[in-house]
Amino acid sequence: MTSSDLTRNQQVVLKALSGSNVPLSAYDILDLEQVRDQGLKAPLTIYRALDKLQALELVHRIESLNAFVACDHGPHSEPVGFMSCDRCRKTIELPVGACEDVLRSSAKANGFKLDRITVEVSGRCTDCVEGT
Ligand SMILES: [Zn+2]
Ligand SMILES: [Zn+2]
Repeated sequence: MTSSDLTRNQQVVLKALSGSNVPLSAYDILDLEQVRDQGLKAPLTIYRALDKLQALELVHRIESLNAFVACDHGPHSEPVGFMSCDRCRKTIELPVGACEDVLRSSAKANGFKLDRITVEVSGRCTDCVEGT
């Protein structure tokens, strides 16, 4: 999978996310001049591109923020969680393989059928901790 296999809209959206150091919502993306200049003006267009980019593991959705980030090392199939800074919104990918094992085994012990695991941690990043 190379970026040349993406449609033009998908490339525009991926570039917008890669260029941002904070997660962006679909409407944040739509508001960017670089995106509007490319003729992307409808939310549905952005959502479609985001859906495809997520399926390709190039973009992740941060559920608690309802926003998206470009993956910094994708595509990958291993599960990831996120640490988001409450102050500057910087978001860092967090490998959660070991954590997932714990959750899966306790779900199993409780007879719970687990479909999806979301790990999102909030707090303050190094820069923001040092700034206080
Ligand atoms: Zn990733
Ligand atoms: Zn911060």
